[in-house]
Amino acid sequence: MEKKVKSVPSLADAHLGSRSDMSLEGLRRTFREHVFYTQGRLPVVATTNDLYMALSFTVRDQLLHRWIKTVEQMGRENLKVVSYLSAEFLLGPHLENNMINLGIYDEVRRTAEDAGQDIQALFDQEEEPGLGNGGLGRLAACYLDSLATLEIPAIGYGIRYEFGIFDQEIRDGWQVERTDQWLRLGNPWEIRRPEITCDVGFGGRTESYQDDQGRFRVRWIPHRTVKGVAYDTPILGYRVNTCNLLRLWKAEAVESFEFEAFNVGDYYGAVDQKITSENITKVLYPNDEPVQGKALRLEQQYFFVSCSLQDMLRIYKLFGGDLKQFAGHFAIQLNDTHPAIGVAELMRLLLDENGMDWDTAWDVTRNTFGYTNHTLLPEALEKWPVALFAGLFPRHMEIIYEINRRFLDEVRNRFPGDEGRVARMSLIDESGERYVRMAHLACAGSRAVNGVAELHTRLLQEDVLRDFHDMMPEKFSNKTNGVTPRRFMVLSNPGLSRLITSKIGEAWVSRPEELRRLEQFVDDGDFREAWRRVKHENKQNLARLIHARTGIEVDPSSMFDIQVKRIHEYKRQHLNVLHIIALYNRLKQDPACDLCPRTFIFGGKAAPGYFMAKRIIKLINSVAEVVNNDPDVSRKLKVVFFPDFNVKNTKFVYPAADLSEQISTAGKEASGTGNMKFSMNGALTVGTLDGANVEIREEVGAENFFLFGLTAEEVDSLQRNGYQPMEFYRDNPVLQGVIERLTSGHFSWGDQELFKPLIDSLLYHDTFMLFADFGAYVNAQQQVDAAYRDPERWTRMSILNVSRMGKFSSDRAIREYCRDIWNVKPVRVELD
Ligand SMILES: *Cc1c(COP(=O)(O)O)cnc(C)c1O
Repeated sequence: MEKKVKSVPSLADAHLGSRSDMSLEGLRRTFREHVFYTQGRLPVVATTNDLYMALSFTVRDQLLHRWIKTVEQMGRENLKVVSYLSAEFLLGPHLENNMINLGIYDEVRRTAEDAGQDIQALFDQEEEPGLGNGGLGRLAACYLDSLATLEIPAIGYGIRYEFGIFDQEIRDGWQVERTDQWLRLGNPWEIRRPEITCDVGFGGRTESYQDDQGRFRVRWIPHRTVKGVAYDTPILGYRVNTCNLLRLWKAEAVESFEFEAFNVGDYYGAVDQKITSENITKVLYPNDEPVQGKALRLEQQYFFVSCSLQDMLRIYKLFGGDLKQFAGHFAIQLNDTHPAIGVAELMRLLLDENGMDWDTAWDVTRNTFGYTNHTLLPEALEKWPVALFAGLFPRHMEIIYEINRRFLDEVRNRFPGDEGRVARMSLIDESGERYVRMAHLACAGSRAVNGVAELHTRLLQEDVLRDFHDMMPEKFSNKTNGVTPRRFMVLSNPGLSRLITSKIGEAWVSRPEELRRLEQFVDDGDFREAWRRVKHENKQNLARLIHARTGIEVDPSSMFDIQVKRIHEYKRQHLNVLHIIALYNRLKQDPACDLCPRTFIFGGKAAPGYFMAKRIIKLINSVAEVVNNDPDVSRKLKVVFFPDFNVKNTKFVYPAADLSEQISTAGKEASGTGNMKFSMNGALTVGTLDGANVEIREEVGAENFFLFGLTAEEVDSLQRNGYQPMEFYRDNPVLQGVIERLTSGHFSWGDQELFKPLIDSLLYHDTFMLFADFGAYVNAQQQVDAAYRDPERWTRMSILNVSRMGKFSSDRAIREYCRDIWNVKPVRVELD
């Protein structure tokens, strides 16, 4: 991408001597060199971190050659690059993943072990970049993996948060947040690019003027300017040479001595400015939903979007591109509305900084962007008060008004006399306090709009974005989410991966459709036995970790029933708890009753300000304490809250599950991706017809999925007719028993206040309708119990789940984006 590399290829290639040597001997030598020359240590005093850093640099050396070749190609004419804009990338540790993708994992591991080196300790040393909250950020990371694996030239653009998602501790049953200091010991995977910087303005005013050709022009005079500095991380595909770029921006103060002229000797003022500037990328908002009205959040969004667009224009011009053709060279995808201000920013850059006329600029902009919607929850649709927005971005506000004026003219043209529709579709919500509607800006300014599962896309078209769909149905399509089988099978579940490969070869890793060939072994008793052995080992591994982290002993031969995801009322972890209490009551009444032993495992973080979610965590821990310590029930039931669920932990969790809990209120979960990871690792699902559960059930077969609960339509009509939880409560003695236990203070040392807010919500105004689904859920769980007693039947179902999960590889999803939205083709990267 940088011209220098291009103009002196011989120099670049001359450097590829010893360090690019991927032979075992070469790797060993490079590793020793890094211990000494990079870490500055003699091997005898090297710490675990020194060795981890040296190994990471050794592996990174193997990436750089591929990276430079890939990036160099991006400047080529007639080549289209995907630019994935996301405020979050939840990457997980790099080291193991890169070793797998390079194909050196087994060899290096064996060599290290032969030399008496505990390589696992080095993997454990890596701090994960927790630059995301959950599903949305993890999706971005899976898509980067698939883009590289499919040999699509791509750049991920985002924010280099100094503090990512908080680390979760559990104290006295409550969540405690600890800052995530992921950069403390250094990050060997990033390369700072101090020469790649962008200036980003905030506040101030605009003024108009006439340019030399007498044309009306506008310029923005910001009140303050912040500098963005690029930090690059290589993203290697699986067994290919494509090594794409993740470019994250850090905010710094501009080095400006003009400042001195205004405030002579104001040293502290200058320091303040530095601190204010750096605040922008200081910390990730730990909220799964948009934070209302926080200026810093809006500043973060604009900051990284502006840097990224300026960077793309810079790259494009470097290679002599004609701005009118920009949309032919970059396909920019907006991961939710967080980067939607990019529509106005690209317009500003083209109009004000490049002198383009409005119609041409709008054409370029609209052909460049695609927008992925991630939510149906109305409260999660991002909007910003006009006053806040206009104060920070006066020029963008003007541009948005002009986009809106023209857009609403189009609406009036298409639907004459329908002013209600005009008000509904406006980019500005004028129903009360005025807001900028980011989803509307994204829809108006994009060539393509997509949902993330079939049900979600349908509901988007029928409800949340209905007016947009009426007007431009051709823009809409579905792109069901997927996850990468490299991280979530090969890396996480080596035992299962080896077993699968021993039967059908290893082609399934890049072509998961091949997993279908496992079906022919479903009647093979030895295979099923081996399948169970792998699951049992994975459960032992998780049991050990649970003991280490919580002190709780769990039995790996009990059923592992797992719900891990962000804690949220719509995801209904508390429905799961109600079921546990129902089982507890049954066992208390009849300790000899015939229940299949189960271990209930929960994990997930709550937004620090989310009262109910934090109370649900306390509830889980309180129930766990009583259940685990009651000899009447603890032989049959165990309850565990696994603290600090993150990407690094996922490899112990998903592969160890027998049962996957996907029990959100129908119509609330856009897709889910955890559901896919569980099923790929041989767990069966108990779930509602929500998000991608619908498609998972279609693929694996209804007979291999435990379905329960209301449909999205039933939820909707129940809501409209006035949901009365009492009607369900009155008819259900099991439910009454559960609620009585809770209200009595049985799980809270007699404290009847602790869980009252939760119980009152369930009894009187629960929008997530737990009581409506409770009966069906308990029944479905009885079916689960019956199925688990027959290990042969259960194993068959498990094998069929894995063999039919090919559709949910992120490779499939990315192929669809490439074909339907981005119009990009793979490019082979040749090393010389
Ligand atoms: C996959 C994943 C999620 C998303 O899980 P859902 O069950 O789809 O909500 C959240 N966090 C982490 C760490 C993940 O790996």
